[in-house]
Amino acid sequence: MTPTETDARTEFQRAEERTAHNYHPLPVVVQHAEGAWMTDVAGTRYLDLLAGYSALNFGHGHPELTRVAREQLEQLTLTSRAFVHDRFADFCAALGDLCGKDLVLPMNTGAEAVETAIKVARKWGYEVKGVPPGRAKILVMTGNFHGRTTTVVGFSDDPDAHNGFGPFTPGFQAVTYGDLAAVEAAIDEDTVAVLLEPIQGEGGVVIPPDDFLPGVRELCTRHDVLMVADEIQSGLGRTGRTFACDHSDVVPDVYVLGKALGGGIIPVSAVVADRDVLSVLRPGQHGSTFGGNPLACAVGAAVVQLLGTGEPQRRATELGVVLRERLEAMVGHGVLDVRVRGLWAGVDIDPTVGTGRDVCEALMARGVLAKDTHGSTIRLAPPLVVSEEDLGWGLDQLAAVVGG
Ligand SMILES: *Cc1c(COP(=O)(O)O)cnc(C)c1O
Repeated sequence: MTPTETDARTEFQRAEERTAHNYHPLPVVVQHAEGAWMTDVAGTRYLDLLAGYSALNFGHGHPELTRVAREQLEQLTLTSRAFVHDRFADFCAALGDLCGKDLVLPMNTGAEAVETAIKVARKWGYEVKGVPPGRAKILVMTGNFHGRTTTVVGFSDDPDAHNGFGPFTPGFQAVTYGDLAAVEAAIDEDTVAVLLEPIQGEGGVVIPPDDFLPGVRELCTRHDVLMVADEIQSGLGRTGRTFACDHSDVVPDVYVLGKALGGGIIPVSAVVADRDVLSVLRPGQHGSTFGGNPLACAVGAAVVQLLGTGEPQRRATELGVVLRERLEAMVGHGVLDVRVRGLWAGVDIDPTVGTGRDVCEALMARGVLAKDTHGSTIRLAPPLVVSEEDLGWGLDQLAAVVGG
């Protein structure tokens, strides 16, 4: 090992020694990144095929986003919502317009935005739909991932996420993801919302049957139930459209957004809906000290502007064709199955090749960083700014690793 590689190993061990082991990171210590490439402390370069779980859709150090952030840092960073600041209106208007909705409620992290949507749906249920007090029910999906707070992990069926963290918040009922009849059967007069991911990211990029989202939309309209789409990972360009729901021509009542909304710079999340839904919140009933802060709003507005050009969506569509072709050619050669939507893929590794983790370690040795999910699946979500050449090279490395 060169001295720098020894340093890198030491740095990794130091990090592991002084943190709770709630993650199992690959043994790399990143120091710098630009576009789709990261460089570790030893100077080794890696192609990023995870993009911060889609928080880095626009790549590392996007010039326009970092310029806006830098300028805002010099100007104003926090007022709290006790005072209005001059970046707030533009962000809310721009994001509301992008979603085709009246109102925006900014928060920070994805889980917080999901919690916010749950509170809003319940309050809407009592005040608008007329559900008797304490009875509001929210339908959720099997295989869901909506974050890590106690309420949210309470309705997760992933044992790692769920077990040992109870007692849990009541009021949720799980139905099989993709099963429209199950959704219909579970809706009753106390049902206030159906909460779903239009594509399940953490679940392994699971795409529901074509009729599922339109069917849920129709059921929600018919039974006066809010359709709440958690587009935190699937939204903002990843699938080749602004929202994954767009592929089905479905408009949910509530969008829950996060991850890429912060441009990979700062946590920014939001709940976006029309006035009849979000106006159920009145002063003092919900809040966040950092939610909608000037820096977040400046970056978030720049992200919305970027999406307004349609360029990130176009790249995701074009590169997604390459991704699909290359991955489908690997099926039967170390890969059991692939699911692709835009520049986003779940790749099920043949267990005879190794675990997802084994494959990610082998990829790392070849200069590619990716992340396994649920044992044998690898989720590929390169920054949308990756070049076609680099993407092809990264997929060459995957083919070499799984194909032996
Ligand atoms: C990542 C994610 C969340 C949670 O976001 P955090 O910012 O990590 O709290 C919620 N829902 C979905 C679909 C996600 O992918």
